[in-house]
Amino acid sequence: MHCPFCGAEETKVNDSRLVADGDQVRRRRQCTSCGERFTTYETAELFMPRVVKRDGSREAFDETKLRAGLQRALEKRPVGTEALEAALERIRQKLRASGEREVPSLQVGELVMQQLKKLDQVAYIRFASVYRQFKDLDEFRAEIDQLSANPGASDES
Ligand SMILES: [Zn+2]
Repeated sequence: MHCPFCGAEETKVNDSRLVADGDQVRRRRQCTSCGERFTTYETAELFMPRVVKRDGSREAFDETKLRAGLQRALEKRPVGTEALEAALERIRQKLRASGEREVPSLQVGELVMQQLKKLDQVAYIRFASVYRQFKDLDEFRAEIDQLSANPGASDES
């Protein structure tokens, strides 16, 4: 890393330690040319991307809304809260791991469907029918046929 004082290319690390409960690495550096000392902090870039809606507007990722959507699909289905929370966490992880600053709402919807497909097929169909807005009954039926032909299949990528 270049020296912020003289711009020299070589700086050495004198000390490197974990801070913020291990979420951050602090490095004490020293320039080998001018001898100035400075500190750098390294953190994993884990932020939730903003969601781009169909109309092009942006909104903050809304976990409450996402949870409500999942709960609605899972209403009266034999799926426990823990399984629901685990699915939510997997969706969050995938969004963070994408490293994107913005994701289309469509992509979030696809992630939800992937998770619901694994959790409960009735919930999956409920969500998909609203979300994908199946054009007609045939399209809807084709999706169900695909599910019953291939139970437990996942779209894991
Ligand atoms: Zn320097």
